[in-house]
Amino acid sequence: MSDQRKIIIIGGGILGCSAAYALSKQPNCQITLFESNTLAAATTSYAAALLTRARQKTVIADLVRETFTAIEELDQLLGQKLPYNPVGSLHLGSEPESRQQVEQMAQIAAQQNLRVDWLSSHQVMELCPWLDLPEDTLAALLPDDGFIDPYQLAIAYAQGAKTLTRQPESSSSLEIHQNCRVEKILQQGDKVMGIELANGEQVFADVVIDAAGPWSTMLARQVGINLAMAPVRSHYWITEALDSVPKDSPMVTLPDARAYARPEVGHLLFGLRDYHPIYASPDKLPQDLAGFSFGQDEQGWEALEDGYEALSRFFPGLNQTGIEHYISSISSYTPDGAPLIGFLKDSQGKMLLEGFIAMTGCSGGGIGMSGGMGRLVSELALGQQAYTDLTPLAIERFGAIDPLDENFQRQCALARCGKRSG
Ligand SMILES: Cc1cc2nc3c(=O)[nH]c(=O)nc-3n(C[C@H](O)[C@H](O)[C@H](O)COP(=O)(O)OP(=O)(O)OC[C@H]3O[C@@H](n4cnc5c(N)ncnc54)[C@H](O)[C@@H]3O)c2cc1C
Repeated sequence: MSDQRKIIIIGGGILGCSAAYALSKQPNCQITLFESNTLAAATTSYAAALLTRARQKTVIADLVRETFTAIEELDQLLGQKLPYNPVGSLHLGSEPESRQQVEQMAQIAAQQNLRVDWLSSHQVMELCPWLDLPEDTLAALLPDDGFIDPYQLAIAYAQGAKTLTRQPESSSSLEIHQNCRVEKILQQGDKVMGIELANGEQVFADVVIDAAGPWSTMLARQVGINLAMAPVRSHYWITEALDSVPKDSPMVTLPDARAYARPEVGHLLFGLRDYHPIYASPDKLPQDLAGFSFGQDEQGWEALEDGYEALSRFFPGLNQTGIEHYISSISSYTPDGAPLIGFLKDSQGKMLLEGFIAMTGCSGGGIGMSGGMGRLVSELALGQQAYTDLTPLAIERFGAIDPLDENFQRQCALARCGKRSG
Protein backbone atom coordinates (compact mmCIF):
# COMPACT_ATOMS: atom_id res chain seq x y z
CA MET A 1 0.00 0.00 0.00
CA SER A 2 2.97 2.33 0.56
CA ASP A 3 3.45 3.17 -3.13
CA GLN A 4 -0.15 4.30 -3.41
CA ARG A 5 -0.61 7.83 -4.72
CA LYS A 6 -2.61 9.84 -2.21
CA ILE A 7 -5.16 12.09 -3.83
CA ILE A 8 -7.59 14.41 -2.07
CA ILE A 9 -10.64 15.73 -3.87
CA ILE A 10 -12.32 18.80 -2.37
CA GLY A 11 -16.00 18.87 -3.30
CA GLY A 12 -18.53 16.16 -4.04
CA GLY A 13 -20.44 17.84 -6.85
CA ILE A 14 -20.55 16.18 -10.24
CA LEU A 15 -16.94 17.12 -10.95
CA GLY A 16 -15.48 15.80 -7.71
CA CYS A 17 -17.47 12.58 -8.19
CA SER A 18 -16.36 12.21 -11.81
CA ALA A 19 -12.72 12.73 -10.76
CA ALA A 20 -13.16 9.98 -8.14
CA TYR A 21 -14.67 7.70 -10.78
CA ALA A 22 -11.85 8.28 -13.28
CA LEU A 23 -9.18 7.79 -10.60
CA SER A 24 -10.82 4.62 -9.33
CA LYS A 25 -10.13 2.97 -12.70
CA GLN A 26 -6.40 3.44 -12.11
CA PRO A 27 -4.15 1.26 -9.97
CA ASN A 28 -2.53 2.33 -6.68
CA CYS A 29 -4.62 5.39 -5.90
CA GLN A 30 -5.71 6.27 -2.39
CA ILE A 31 -8.60 8.63 -3.12
CA THR A 32 -10.23 10.69 -0.37
CA LEU A 33 -13.13 12.98 -1.19
CA PHE A 34 -14.30 15.64 1.28
CA GLU A 35 -17.71 17.21 0.79
CA SER A 36 -18.81 19.96 3.17
CA ASN A 37 -22.49 19.17 2.68
CA THR A 38 -23.91 16.07 0.96
CA LEU A 39 -22.96 14.77 -2.49
CA ALA A 40 -24.32 16.71 -5.47
CA ALA A 41 -26.51 18.97 -3.35
CA ALA A 42 -24.99 22.28 -4.53
CA THR A 43 -24.98 23.69 -8.08
CA THR A 44 -25.10 20.23 -9.67
CA SER A 45 -28.63 19.57 -8.47
CA TYR A 46 -29.94 22.74 -10.17
CA ALA A 47 -28.74 21.95 -13.70
CA ALA A 48 -31.07 21.60 -16.67
CA ALA A 49 -28.52 18.99 -17.78
CA LEU A 50 -28.77 19.28 -21.54
CA LEU A 51 -26.08 17.10 -23.09
CA THR A 52 -25.16 18.36 -26.54
CA ARG A 53 -22.21 16.91 -28.46
CA ALA A 54 -21.56 19.41 -31.27
CA ARG A 55 -19.28 22.06 -29.76
CA GLN A 56 -17.36 24.83 -31.43
CA LYS A 57 -14.23 24.20 -29.38
CA THR A 58 -12.74 20.78 -30.17
CA VAL A 59 -11.57 20.35 -26.60
CA ILE A 60 -15.10 20.81 -25.24
CA ALA A 61 -16.44 18.27 -27.74
CA ASP A 62 -13.72 15.88 -26.49
CA LEU A 63 -14.81 16.43 -22.88
CA VAL A 64 -18.49 15.90 -23.66
CA ARG A 65 -17.81 12.72 -25.64
CA GLU A 66 -16.27 11.19 -22.52
CA THR A 67 -19.46 11.90 -20.56
CA PHE A 68 -21.51 9.87 -23.01
CA THR A 69 -18.91 7.10 -22.72
CA ALA A 70 -19.06 7.28 -18.92
CA ILE A 71 -22.88 7.02 -18.97
CA GLU A 72 -22.63 3.81 -21.00
CA GLU A 73 -19.90 2.42 -18.72
CA LEU A 74 -21.87 3.25 -15.58
CA ASP A 75 -25.01 1.58 -16.97
CA GLN A 76 -22.96 -1.62 -17.32
CA LEU A 77 -21.01 -1.30 -14.08
CA LEU A 78 -23.99 -0.51 -11.85
CA GLY A 79 -26.32 -2.92 -13.67
CA GLN A 80 -29.08 -0.38 -14.22
CA LYS A 81 -29.68 2.30 -16.77
CA LEU A 82 -29.17 5.91 -15.77
CA PRO A 83 -32.14 8.21 -16.48
CA TYR A 84 -30.69 9.49 -19.76
CA ASN A 85 -33.31 10.74 -22.20
CA PRO A 86 -32.04 10.49 -25.78
CA VAL A 87 -34.60 12.89 -27.23
CA GLY A 88 -32.21 14.70 -29.60
CA SER A 89 -31.55 18.42 -29.86
CA LEU A 90 -33.15 20.77 -32.35
CA HIS A 91 -31.29 23.90 -33.38
CA LEU A 92 -33.54 26.55 -34.86
CA GLY A 93 -32.63 29.79 -36.66
CA SER A 94 -34.93 32.34 -38.19
CA GLU A 95 -32.94 35.62 -38.31
CA PRO A 96 -29.81 35.68 -40.56
CA GLU A 97 -27.33 35.52 -37.66
CA SER A 98 -29.13 32.58 -36.07
CA ARG A 99 -29.50 30.75 -39.39
CA GLN A 100 -25.77 31.12 -39.83
CA GLN A 101 -25.23 29.76 -36.34
CA VAL A 102 -27.37 26.71 -37.08
CA GLU A 103 -25.44 26.10 -40.31
CA GLN A 104 -22.13 26.40 -38.45
CA MET A 105 -23.31 24.04 -35.75
CA ALA A 106 -24.36 21.49 -38.39
CA GLN A 107 -20.94 21.79 -40.06
CA ILE A 108 -19.20 21.22 -36.74
CA ALA A 109 -21.45 18.23 -36.10
CA ALA A 110 -20.61 16.77 -39.51
CA GLN A 111 -16.87 17.27 -38.86
CA GLN A 112 -17.34 15.37 -35.61
CA ASN A 113 -19.17 12.58 -37.49
CA LEU A 114 -22.43 13.31 -35.70
CA ARG A 115 -25.71 12.69 -37.44
CA VAL A 116 -27.64 15.80 -38.48
CA ASP A 117 -31.17 15.71 -39.93
CA TRP A 118 -32.58 18.82 -41.59
CA LEU A 119 -36.27 19.31 -40.84
CA SER A 120 -38.95 21.58 -42.27
CA SER A 121 -40.81 23.97 -39.95
CA HIS A 122 -43.85 21.72 -40.34
CA GLN A 123 -41.89 18.64 -39.19
CA VAL A 124 -40.51 20.57 -36.20
CA MET A 125 -43.98 21.68 -35.13
CA GLU A 126 -45.18 18.07 -35.30
CA LEU A 127 -42.40 17.05 -32.94
CA CYS A 128 -42.81 20.11 -30.68
CA PRO A 129 -46.43 21.32 -30.96
CA TRP A 130 -45.67 24.12 -28.46
CA LEU A 131 -43.58 25.83 -31.15
CA ASP A 132 -44.87 28.06 -33.94
CA LEU A 133 -42.15 28.66 -36.52
CA PRO A 134 -41.86 30.99 -39.48
CA GLU A 135 -41.91 29.00 -42.74
CA ASP A 136 -38.25 29.65 -43.58
CA THR A 137 -36.79 28.62 -40.18
CA LEU A 138 -33.63 26.58 -40.50
CA ALA A 139 -33.97 23.47 -38.33
CA ALA A 140 -31.22 20.94 -37.63
CA LEU A 141 -31.95 17.90 -35.47
CA LEU A 142 -29.07 16.08 -33.77
CA PRO A 143 -30.85 12.87 -32.82
CA ASP A 144 -28.05 11.52 -30.60
CA ASP A 145 -28.20 14.30 -27.98
CA GLY A 146 -30.28 14.15 -24.81
CA PHE A 147 -30.61 15.14 -21.18
CA ILE A 148 -30.07 13.42 -17.87
CA ASP A 149 -30.89 13.85 -14.20
CA PRO A 150 -27.70 15.63 -13.01
CA TYR A 151 -28.02 14.47 -9.40
CA GLN A 152 -28.33 10.83 -10.42
CA LEU A 153 -25.38 11.07 -12.80
CA ALA A 154 -23.20 12.56 -10.03
CA ILE A 155 -24.25 9.85 -7.58
CA ALA A 156 -23.62 7.21 -10.25
CA TYR A 157 -20.03 8.46 -10.66
CA ALA A 158 -19.55 8.09 -6.89
CA GLN A 159 -21.17 4.65 -6.84
CA GLY A 160 -19.10 3.63 -9.86
CA ALA A 161 -15.94 4.68 -8.04
CA LYS A 162 -16.96 2.70 -4.93
CA THR A 163 -17.81 -0.37 -7.00
CA LEU A 164 -14.49 -0.31 -8.85
CA THR A 165 -12.34 0.18 -5.77
CA ARG A 166 -14.16 -2.66 -3.96
CA GLN A 167 -13.40 -5.17 -6.68
CA PRO A 168 -10.92 -7.75 -5.35
CA GLU A 169 -8.38 -7.01 -8.09
CA SER A 170 -8.37 -3.25 -7.40
CA SER A 171 -5.24 -1.81 -5.80
CA SER A 172 -6.96 1.56 -5.26
CA SER A 173 -9.14 2.71 -2.39
CA LEU A 174 -11.81 5.36 -1.94
CA GLU A 175 -13.14 7.19 1.10
CA ILE A 176 -15.97 9.69 0.81
CA HIS A 177 -16.52 11.98 3.79
CA GLN A 178 -19.71 14.02 3.70
CA ASN A 179 -20.46 16.92 6.04
CA CYS A 180 -16.72 17.41 6.20
CA ARG A 181 -15.46 20.82 5.25
CA VAL A 182 -11.94 21.57 4.06
CA GLU A 183 -10.87 24.74 5.79
CA LYS A 184 -7.26 25.15 4.70
CA ILE A 185 -4.94 23.98 2.00
CA LEU A 186 -1.54 23.10 3.42
CA GLN A 187 1.40 24.43 1.49
CA GLN A 188 5.14 24.19 1.99
CA GLY A 189 7.18 26.33 -0.39
CA ASP A 190 6.07 25.59 -3.93
CA LYS A 191 4.26 22.38 -3.00
CA VAL A 192 0.77 21.68 -1.67
CA MET A 193 1.00 19.01 1.05
CA GLY A 194 -2.64 18.32 1.92
CA ILE A 195 -5.59 19.93 3.64
CA GLU A 196 -6.91 20.85 7.08
CA LEU A 197 -10.51 20.12 7.97
CA ALA A 198 -12.86 22.37 9.90
CA ASN A 199 -12.21 20.21 13.03
CA GLY A 200 -8.46 20.91 12.78
CA GLU A 201 -7.51 17.46 11.49
CA GLN A 202 -4.80 17.53 8.84
CA VAL A 203 -4.69 15.08 5.95
CA PHE A 204 -1.62 14.84 3.74
CA ALA A 205 -1.59 13.91 0.07
CA ASP A 206 0.49 13.95 -3.10
CA VAL A 207 -2.19 15.85 -4.98
CA VAL A 208 -5.14 18.01 -3.93
CA ILE A 209 -7.90 18.54 -6.51
CA ASP A 210 -9.95 21.69 -6.05
CA ALA A 211 -13.41 20.70 -7.33
CA ALA A 212 -15.34 22.92 -4.94
CA GLY A 213 -17.55 24.55 -7.60
CA PRO A 214 -18.09 28.27 -7.01
CA TRP A 215 -16.19 27.95 -3.72
CA SER A 216 -13.03 26.82 -5.56
CA THR A 217 -11.93 30.43 -5.99
CA MET A 218 -11.47 31.19 -2.31
CA LEU A 219 -9.70 27.86 -1.70
CA ALA A 220 -7.28 28.48 -4.58
CA ARG A 221 -6.52 31.96 -3.27
CA GLN A 222 -5.11 30.37 -0.13
CA VAL A 223 -2.27 29.06 -2.29
CA GLY A 224 -1.90 32.24 -4.32
CA ILE A 225 -3.92 31.14 -7.35
CA ASN A 226 -6.47 33.54 -8.82
CA LEU A 227 -9.01 31.42 -10.66
CA ALA A 228 -10.41 33.35 -13.62
CA MET A 229 -14.11 32.80 -13.02
CA ALA A 230 -17.11 34.36 -11.30
CA PRO A 231 -20.39 33.11 -9.82
CA VAL A 232 -22.98 34.09 -12.44
CA ARG A 233 -26.74 33.58 -12.41
CA SER A 234 -28.15 30.71 -14.50
CA HIS A 235 -31.87 30.09 -14.42
CA TYR A 236 -34.86 28.46 -16.02
CA TRP A 237 -38.61 28.14 -15.64
CA ILE A 238 -40.85 25.07 -15.63
CA THR A 239 -44.39 25.52 -16.95
CA GLU A 240 -47.56 23.79 -15.88
CA ALA A 241 -48.23 20.45 -17.66
CA LEU A 242 -48.87 21.07 -21.36
CA ASP A 243 -50.38 18.71 -23.95
CA SER A 244 -48.21 20.48 -26.52
CA VAL A 245 -45.02 19.12 -24.90
CA PRO A 246 -44.72 15.38 -25.65
CA LYS A 247 -42.49 13.69 -23.08
CA ASP A 248 -40.02 12.54 -25.71
CA SER A 249 -39.98 15.72 -27.82
CA PRO A 250 -36.49 17.05 -28.62
CA MET A 251 -34.61 19.67 -26.66
CA VAL A 252 -34.61 23.01 -28.47
CA THR A 253 -32.05 25.78 -28.80
CA LEU A 254 -33.47 29.03 -30.11
CA PRO A 255 -30.68 31.59 -30.56
CA ASP A 256 -33.19 34.15 -31.94
CA ALA A 257 -34.81 34.19 -28.50
CA ARG A 258 -31.60 33.52 -26.50
CA ALA A 259 -33.50 30.51 -25.22
CA TYR A 260 -33.29 26.77 -24.77
CA ALA A 261 -36.01 24.31 -23.77
CA ARG A 262 -36.62 20.66 -23.11
CA PRO A 263 -39.51 18.47 -22.00
CA GLU A 264 -39.78 17.83 -18.28
CA VAL A 265 -42.28 14.98 -17.83
CA GLY A 266 -45.06 16.73 -19.74
CA HIS A 267 -44.06 20.21 -18.62
CA LEU A 268 -41.79 22.58 -20.55
CA LEU A 269 -38.49 23.61 -19.02
CA PHE A 270 -37.14 26.73 -20.68
CA GLY A 271 -34.12 28.90 -19.95
CA LEU A 272 -33.21 32.39 -21.10
CA ARG A 273 -29.78 33.99 -21.24
CA ASP A 274 -29.86 37.19 -19.23
CA TYR A 275 -29.75 40.46 -21.16
CA HIS A 276 -28.28 42.10 -18.05
CA PRO A 277 -25.33 40.48 -16.27
CA ILE A 278 -26.16 39.21 -12.78
CA TYR A 279 -23.28 37.92 -10.70
CA ALA A 280 -21.88 37.67 -7.19
CA SER A 281 -18.47 37.92 -5.60
CA PRO A 282 -16.85 34.59 -4.65
CA ASP A 283 -15.94 35.87 -1.18
CA LYS A 284 -19.63 36.57 -0.41
CA LEU A 285 -21.08 33.11 -1.09
CA PRO A 286 -22.82 31.28 1.75
CA GLN A 287 -21.68 27.70 2.45
CA ASP A 288 -25.15 26.40 1.61
CA LEU A 289 -26.90 27.62 -1.55
CA ALA A 290 -30.45 26.91 -0.33
CA GLY A 291 -32.21 30.27 -0.46
CA PHE A 292 -29.20 31.99 -2.04
CA SER A 293 -30.06 35.21 -3.85
CA PHE A 294 -28.01 37.46 -6.13
CA GLY A 295 -29.79 40.41 -4.51
CA GLN A 296 -31.70 41.44 -7.63
CA ASP A 297 -34.60 40.09 -9.71
CA GLU A 298 -35.02 37.29 -7.19
CA GLN A 299 -38.01 35.62 -8.85
CA GLY A 300 -36.66 36.10 -12.39
CA TRP A 301 -39.65 38.18 -13.55
CA GLU A 302 -37.48 40.96 -14.98
CA ALA A 303 -35.46 38.47 -16.99
CA LEU A 304 -38.68 36.82 -18.22
CA GLU A 305 -40.07 40.21 -19.20
CA ASP A 306 -36.82 41.05 -21.06
CA GLY A 307 -37.01 37.80 -23.01
CA TYR A 308 -40.80 37.54 -23.34
CA GLU A 309 -41.30 39.18 -26.74
CA ALA A 310 -38.57 37.22 -28.52
CA LEU A 311 -39.63 33.91 -26.98
CA SER A 312 -43.37 34.36 -27.53
CA ARG A 313 -42.72 34.75 -31.30
CA PHE A 314 -41.84 31.04 -31.26
CA PHE A 315 -43.94 29.97 -28.27
CA PRO A 316 -47.20 31.91 -28.77
CA GLY A 317 -48.90 30.01 -25.95
CA LEU A 318 -46.48 31.50 -23.41
CA ASN A 319 -48.85 34.25 -22.25
CA GLN A 320 -51.58 31.72 -21.34
CA THR A 321 -49.18 29.27 -19.72
CA GLY A 322 -48.81 28.93 -15.97
CA ILE A 323 -45.29 28.89 -14.55
CA GLU A 324 -44.97 26.28 -11.80
CA HIS A 325 -41.31 26.62 -10.87
CA TYR A 326 -38.49 29.09 -11.19
CA ILE A 327 -34.99 27.64 -10.64
CA SER A 328 -32.03 29.92 -10.24
CA SER A 329 -28.52 29.22 -9.04
CA ILE A 330 -24.84 29.78 -9.75
CA SER A 331 -22.78 28.83 -12.77
CA SER A 332 -19.05 29.50 -12.57
CA TYR A 333 -18.25 31.45 -15.74
CA THR A 334 -14.85 32.18 -17.23
CA PRO A 335 -14.39 35.04 -19.72
CA ASP A 336 -14.14 32.62 -22.70
CA GLY A 337 -16.71 30.07 -21.50
CA ALA A 338 -14.20 27.17 -21.30
CA PRO A 339 -13.39 25.50 -17.97
CA LEU A 340 -10.25 25.79 -15.86
CA ILE A 341 -8.27 22.58 -15.49
CA GLY A 342 -4.76 21.85 -14.39
CA PHE A 343 -1.72 22.84 -12.38
CA LEU A 344 -0.52 26.44 -12.26
CA LYS A 345 2.26 26.89 -14.82
CA ASP A 346 4.35 29.76 -16.13
CA SER A 347 4.44 30.86 -19.77
CA GLN A 348 7.17 28.28 -20.50
CA GLY A 349 4.98 25.49 -19.14
CA LYS A 350 7.02 25.09 -15.94
CA MET A 351 4.94 24.05 -12.93
CA LEU A 352 4.77 26.84 -10.34
CA LEU A 353 2.91 24.96 -7.63
CA GLU A 354 3.18 21.21 -7.26
CA GLY A 355 0.36 19.10 -5.89
CA PHE A 356 -2.60 21.37 -6.63
CA ILE A 357 -5.02 20.84 -9.53
CA ALA A 358 -7.97 23.11 -10.28
CA MET A 359 -11.09 21.58 -11.83
CA THR A 360 -13.80 24.18 -12.20
CA GLY A 361 -15.09 27.16 -14.23
CA CYS A 362 -17.58 25.05 -16.17
CA SER A 363 -19.49 28.04 -17.54
CA GLY A 364 -22.88 26.32 -17.51
CA GLY A 365 -21.60 23.04 -18.95
CA GLY A 366 -20.24 21.00 -16.06
CA ILE A 367 -22.73 18.16 -16.42
CA GLY A 368 -22.00 17.78 -20.10
CA MET A 369 -18.22 17.96 -19.62
CA SER A 370 -18.06 15.95 -16.39
CA GLY A 371 -16.80 12.68 -17.87
CA GLY A 372 -13.97 14.33 -19.79
CA MET A 373 -12.99 16.64 -16.94
CA GLY A 374 -12.79 13.67 -14.58
CA ARG A 375 -10.58 11.77 -17.00
CA LEU A 376 -8.27 14.74 -17.61
CA VAL A 377 -7.81 15.44 -13.93
CA SER A 378 -7.07 11.79 -13.20
CA GLU A 379 -4.41 11.80 -15.95
CA LEU A 380 -2.86 14.97 -14.55
CA ALA A 381 -2.90 13.68 -10.97
CA LEU A 382 -1.08 10.51 -12.05
CA GLY A 383 1.42 12.26 -14.32
CA GLN A 384 0.00 10.61 -17.45
CA GLN A 385 -0.30 12.10 -20.92
CA ALA A 386 -3.56 14.09 -21.18
CA TYR A 387 -5.96 12.60 -23.73
CA THR A 388 -6.74 16.00 -25.24
CA ASP A 389 -4.94 19.33 -25.60
CA LEU A 390 -5.08 21.12 -22.27
CA THR A 391 -3.87 24.48 -23.57
CA PRO A 392 -7.37 26.01 -24.09
CA LEU A 393 -8.24 25.04 -20.48
CA ALA A 394 -5.02 26.25 -18.82
CA ILE A 395 -5.78 28.05 -15.58
CA GLU A 396 -3.27 30.83 -16.26
CA ARG A 397 -4.54 31.62 -19.79
CA PHE A 398 -6.08 34.97 -18.81
CA GLY A 399 -2.90 36.34 -17.26
CA ALA A 400 -3.07 38.36 -14.06
CA ILE A 401 -6.71 38.76 -13.03
CA ASP A 402 -8.43 39.36 -9.70
CA PRO A 403 -11.58 37.26 -9.19
CA LEU A 404 -12.65 39.65 -6.41
CA ASP A 405 -12.59 42.62 -8.78
CA GLU A 406 -16.10 43.61 -9.82
CA ASN A 407 -15.10 44.52 -13.37
CA PHE A 408 -13.65 41.07 -13.83
CA GLN A 409 -16.80 39.44 -12.41
CA ARG A 410 -18.88 41.49 -14.84
CA GLN A 411 -16.71 40.36 -17.74
CA CYS A 412 -17.42 36.72 -16.79
CA ALA A 413 -21.16 37.42 -16.51
CA LEU A 414 -21.13 39.03 -19.96
CA ALA A 415 -19.73 35.75 -21.33
CA ARG A 416 -22.99 34.15 -20.23
CA CYS A 417 -25.14 36.96 -21.66
CA GLY A 418 -23.40 36.46 -25.00
CA LYS A 419 -23.91 32.69 -25.04
CA ARG A 420 -26.32 31.55 -27.76
CA SER A 421 -25.95 27.78 -27.86
CA GLY A 422 -27.15 25.02 -25.52
C1 LIG B 1 -29.78 26.83 -13.52
C2 LIG B 1 -28.61 26.03 -14.01
C3 LIG B 1 -28.72 25.30 -15.19
C4 LIG B 1 -27.63 24.54 -15.64
N1 LIG B 1 -27.78 23.79 -16.77
C5 LIG B 1 -26.76 23.01 -17.22
C6 LIG B 1 -26.90 22.21 -18.38
O1 LIG B 1 -27.95 22.20 -19.04
N2 LIG B 1 -25.84 21.45 -18.77
C7 LIG B 1 -24.67 21.43 -18.07
O2 LIG B 1 -23.74 20.72 -18.45
N3 LIG B 1 -24.50 22.19 -16.96
C8 LIG B 1 -25.51 22.99 -16.53
N4 LIG B 1 -25.35 23.78 -15.42
C9 LIG B 1 -24.01 23.87 -14.81
C10 LIG B 1 -23.72 22.74 -13.86
O3 LIG B 1 -24.70 22.69 -12.86
C11 LIG B 1 -22.34 22.98 -13.23
O4 LIG B 1 -21.37 23.23 -14.22
C12 LIG B 1 -21.89 21.78 -12.41
O5 LIG B 1 -22.89 21.35 -11.54
C13 LIG B 1 -20.62 22.14 -11.62
O6 LIG B 1 -20.32 21.04 -10.78
P1 LIG B 1 -19.28 21.18 -9.60
O7 LIG B 1 -19.04 19.81 -9.10
O8 LIG B 1 -18.13 21.99 -10.08
O9 LIG B 1 -19.97 22.13 -8.54
P2 LIG B 1 -20.97 21.83 -7.32
O10 LIG B 1 -22.06 20.91 -7.72
O11 LIG B 1 -21.40 23.16 -6.82
O12 LIG B 1 -20.07 21.07 -6.29
C14 LIG B 1 -19.08 21.68 -5.53
C15 LIG B 1 -19.12 21.00 -4.18
O13 LIG B 1 -18.03 21.43 -3.40
C16 LIG B 1 -18.46 21.46 -2.05
N5 LIG B 1 -17.54 22.33 -1.30
C17 LIG B 1 -17.38 23.66 -1.42
N6 LIG B 1 -16.44 24.11 -0.58
C18 LIG B 1 -15.97 23.03 0.09
C19 LIG B 1 -15.00 22.84 1.10
N7 LIG B 1 -14.30 23.87 1.59
N8 LIG B 1 -14.80 21.59 1.60
C20 LIG B 1 -15.50 20.53 1.10
N9 LIG B 1 -16.43 20.66 0.14
C21 LIG B 1 -16.67 21.89 -0.36
C22 LIG B 1 -19.88 22.02 -2.14
O14 LIG B 1 -20.63 21.71 -1.00
C23 LIG B 1 -20.38 21.33 -3.41
O15 LIG B 1 -21.09 20.15 -3.13
C24 LIG B 1 -26.41 24.55 -14.93
C25 LIG B 1 -26.30 25.29 -13.74
C26 LIG B 1 -27.39 26.02 -13.28
C27 LIG B 1 -27.26 26.79 -12.01
